Amino acid sequence: MSSNVAGEKFEAVIGLEVHAQLLTNSKIFCGCSTAFGAAPNSQTCPVCTGQPGSLPVMNEKAIQYTIKTGLAMDCSISPYSRFARKNYFYPDLPKGYQISQYELPLCLKGRVVIETSEGKKEIGITRIHLEEDAGKNIHEAGPFSFVDLNRGGMPLMEIVSEPDMRSPAEAGAYMRKLRTILRYIGVCDGNMEQGSLRCDANVSVRPKGQKELGVKVELKNMNSFRFVEKALEYEINRQVRAIEAGEPILQETRLWDSAAGVTLSMRSKEEAHDYRYFPEPDLVPVTVPDNDIKRIKESLPELPDIKRERFVSVYGLPEYDADQLTAEKPVAEWFEETVKLGAKPKTVSNWVMGELMRLLNEEGAPIEKSSVTPQALAEMLALIDNGTISGKIAKTVFDEMYRTGKPAKKIVEEKGLVQITDTGALESAIDAVMAASPSEVERYRAGEEKLFGFFVGQVMKATKGKANPAAANDMLKKRLKG
Ligand code: ADP
Ligand code: MG
Ligand code: ZN
Repeated sequence: MSSNVAGEKFEAVIGLEVHAQLLTNSKIFCGCSTAFGAAPNSQTCPVCTGQPGSLPVMNEKAIQYTIKTGLAMDCSISPYSRFARKNYFYPDLPKGYQISQYELPLCLKGRVVIETSEGKKEIGITRIHLEEDAGKNIHEAGPFSFVDLNRGGMPLMEIVSEPDMRSPAEAGAYMRKLRTILRYIGVCDGNMEQGSLRCDANVSVRPKGQKELGVKVELKNMNSFRFVEKALEYEINRQVRAIEAGEPILQETRLWDSAAGVTLSMRSKEEAHDYRYFPEPDLVPVTVPDNDIKRIKESLPELPDIKRERFVSVYGLPEYDADQLTAEKPVAEWFEETVKLGAKPKTVSNWVMGELMRLLNEEGAPIEKSSVTPQALAEMLALIDNGTISGKIAKTVFDEMYRTGKPAKKIVEEKGLVQITDTGALESAIDAVMAASPSEVERYRAGEEKLFGFFVGQVMKATKGKANPAAANDMLKKRLKG
């Protein structure tokens, strides 16, 4: 995607509000389960259905997870924060207000680093606060709508960024990075199809060089990286065209219609809610002792940026490889385990990013489910190194390892895949090939050197890919000389 969607004269400005559902077992203010996919309203109680007289009880884990996220994103943790009521009416919100945080959020002023086409870039985090999710209205065909309150009271973090992004690609990179970090620290599964991670994107454009921000439009509730990028691209173009036509940009909320590929106005600023925030009287303010912050900080794993740098400096991997391998923690761990067994880092990287990922993606399986273990790959790479199999045959062997879970040695024995380095065997294969193609031999000898590839191919075919390529090349050259 071009980073210059706004054209030569304009610049896009983007800030994201990302909602991440926390991986707690129970909801934020009651003991109901947070498991996904249960029958409608089967995971509800008086608290999360907003019955009069019920009282919220704070889920401590939700607070800890939010602090953990704040620390992973370099935020300062507020020693004192408070919950607030955000008042509005909607059928999926029976209480008539959402418990959120307003003027005193848990985390403030952090940063997340993304990779852009121009190198590393820091995106500021304005705040991270904790809130409850609302239920879900279901509009199916027919005269009725339904309300499912299973999602009501799910613990959500809202991560608000500074307006630091300048292109849809940067917004996409930022969101991917957030997902990576959240999954590393185990606070959110990042499952976008199930809505565990969704985003409102705010976007404006301004003439290049202008300091003041343009009027922003908010694009609501997108749950795929591609939609975010596409919606932003469309919206930036729309705003630039409007400005060039002398039309004002209205501050409004718009929705992305992915089928039509356009954004549509949902409500203008005038129709925006006045939420009448006020402190939540049913919950005590949250005070976080220094000791707790220290303990949570110590519980953080090595974060993706640090791991990525280490993979470059310790293993000598290209930036690209390090980026790919550290996007998911289990992949990074799988890679490191294989290297610890003595395999060459770059070779392991190639196999993981190539064959292994291809096979895993085919069935949508995570690396934890791989039937090939680090041990098994290390053993197979040793067979290449000691000349037992060729790199080409190794692909077949690896495929078979993945499908059957058998070790490489066994597959090589069973299928007779041992590489032919034996001079006699190679010689007879080459002689047969030359005898079968006398005119090609003649043309080659007459100076048509590009025919060499043809002979290599024929020898490989005759040996079912088992000829040692280097030995076969050497010998072919000699014999073709005549
Ligand atoms: P609101 O009160 O409408 O939610 P905020 O000031 O809280 O607005 O900002 C919400 C998000 O919009 C933040 O991520 C912020 O970075 C972004 N934002 C604010 N102003 C602009 C702007 N002019 N252009 C693009 N993004 C903006
Ligand atoms: Mg907002
Ligand atoms: Zn409940």
